[in-house]
Amino acid sequence: MSRITLRQLLDHAAEHDYGVPAFNINNIEQALAIMEAAEAVDAPVILQVSRGARSYARDIMLAKMIAALEELYPAIPICVHQDHGNEDATCLSAIQHGFTSVMMDGSLKADAKTPADYAYNVGITARVAAMAHAVGASVEGELGVLGSLETGQGEQEDGHGAEGTLSHDQLLTDPDQAVDFVALTKVDALAIAMGTSHGAYKFSRKPDGDILAMRVVEEIHRRLPGVHLVMHGSSSVPQELQDLFNAHGGEMPQTWGVPVDEIVRGIRHGVRKVNIDTDCRLAMAAHFRKVAQDNRAEFDPRKFLKPAMDAMRDLCRDRFERFGTAGHACAIKPVPLSEMARRYRAGALDPHFAAAA
Ligand SMILES: [Zn+2]
Repeated sequence: MSRITLRQLLDHAAEHDYGVPAFNINNIEQALAIMEAAEAVDAPVILQVSRGARSYARDIMLAKMIAALEELYPAIPICVHQDHGNEDATCLSAIQHGFTSVMMDGSLKADAKTPADYAYNVGITARVAAMAHAVGASVEGELGVLGSLETGQGEQEDGHGAEGTLSHDQLLTDPDQAVDFVALTKVDALAIAMGTSHGAYKFSRKPDGDILAMRVVEEIHRRLPGVHLVMHGSSSVPQELQDLFNAHGGEMPQTWGVPVDEIVRGIRHGVRKVNIDTDCRLAMAAHFRKVAQDNRAEFDPRKFLKPAMDAMRDLCRDRFERFGTAGHACAIKPVPLSEMARRYRAGALDPHFAAAA
């Protein structure tokens, strides 16, 4: 049994001062690339599945594919996580299909576009957390709306993201409110807004503290040292992948992501889960383009997919190593959901808060 809850995995990460990348999967190729990387460096994994991925690949296909991965890689703890659940049913149906963790993103309404107010967010997140915890599954909440501090715009990615212009108050998580939110909802992990956004176009220049607010991470960690923080939109959009993509017929405008060094700084201040999707997509797509241009007669999809998988595997391996995830899989013995449920019921997993100053 190698399936693990997010809570157990991030508790281990906190105890041993490392972060865990959460890579999105949509198909066999991405899943195998992540698992190959994890096995090579002995890293536990978070496989994260968006609503878009569930409708692309279908729930049953994903569930059986993940069961197959457990069989293929019995030594690697696998956390299966719903990315950006928009309502109760999304989260509960994920758990029905074997997910061990869900994100209930109540920062937006169920349409995944309209920013929600605080009371709505608390209400729906607390409700989903109570239900998920009753069966031992973990819950990530989000406070603050993801979007750009440069433009004030939210971002649509994979059918998810705020529409319209947002204020700095919405785009930066308020540390005092974060304490209140965790106390009321009992989430296991908290996604915070700090200027990162989804997709490739995060920043128009190398980010500094004005547009990537790492101070928000540090401030929240000071008040909530026992709560696992989550950085969304944390692809680094490496220049060499942009260049490879563009050298083979791509037309991607110059862009900047979140530097890996800044993520590592976040990991020193309570960031335990780091969401990465764009980098994996770009690694694969750049290699599709290269094969298509270098060998114009090629028509076997595997000839495109294999180098793309190898590139994604190398990228994942690099993140496992730089976030400190490598080397920890063998020390983790996954606790079953039934035992996690018992611990929640007993109050043993209630959030801890810093003593009042
Ligand atoms: Zn996200």
